Amino acid sequence: MRVEVQQSEKLYVLGELAAAIAHEMRNPMTVVRGFLQLLQEQSVSPEKQKMFLELSIEELDRSEAIISDYLAYAKPQIDKHEGIEVSERVRSVAGVVTSYATLRSVTVESQIEDGLELTGDPEKFSQVLMNLFKNGIEAMPQGGTLHIHAYKRARQIHIDVSDTGVGMTPAELARLGNPYYSTKETGTGLGLMVTYQIVHSMSGHIQVKSEKGKGTQFALSFPLPDKHHEKNAPPK
Ligand code: ADP
Ligand code: MG
Repeated sequence: MRVEVQQSEKLYVLGELAAAIAHEMRNPMTVVRGFLQLLQEQSVSPEKQKMFLELSIEELDRSEAIISDYLAYAKPQIDKHEGIEVSERVRSVAGVVTSYATLRSVTVESQIEDGLELTGDPEKFSQVLMNLFKNGIEAMPQGGTLHIHAYKRARQIHIDVSDTGVGMTPAELARLGNPYYSTKETGTGLGLMVTYQIVHSMSGHIQVKSEKGKGTQFALSFPLPDKHHEKNAPPK
């Protein structure tokens, strides 16, 4: 089962992200504040205290997840348009998730061509990688292998991220990228929405192949600027 992910009206434009994050963070903060206030009261039973603390921790984890899906790499500037050293970025984000993978008995195997470059916002590009790598790892609760393959072919840069995890049914696959769609207990359902948006803003494409119980592959492709054409352009 393959789907080509289209740019969707459901997606927020990047500029509206800040408002969306503020909205998302307010809920957990309100909830935690409420529990802390209840804990201040003398009459709360030890069982209730325990429950309030557990729920507060859950809410704080949720806020942490929102930050990491949306903002792990965000910088407070407007969108940058500069050289992205793709090979270095892929290597470095793969390095960052390795301890997360090891904790879950997941092996990270990467094959990364040297010298790959694109144009765009390097931090946003790292956010894309982070969200895809994390999802891959989280799809393997029993352990497995996360494969990362980055290469150039036919004037395009390809980044394939595949896992040997739980996979998805065609119906689940069709819901990917919808805001708040998550099958995880403390999931945000925002990671892929952000990912698709950034990839499309870079004129890239995402193709997802998945088989329930077998695993999933996210295949990203980005067109390379026509360097030859630029060089031979007449002087202005
Ligand atoms: P979250 O990770 O917070 O749930 P995402 O937007 O990153 O939100 O992902 C949305 C949903 O898509 C996940 O909850 C999961 O059901 C599904 N998904 C994403 N990546 C994978 C994957 N590699 N394998 C299986 N399911 C996936
Ligand atoms: Mg995610």
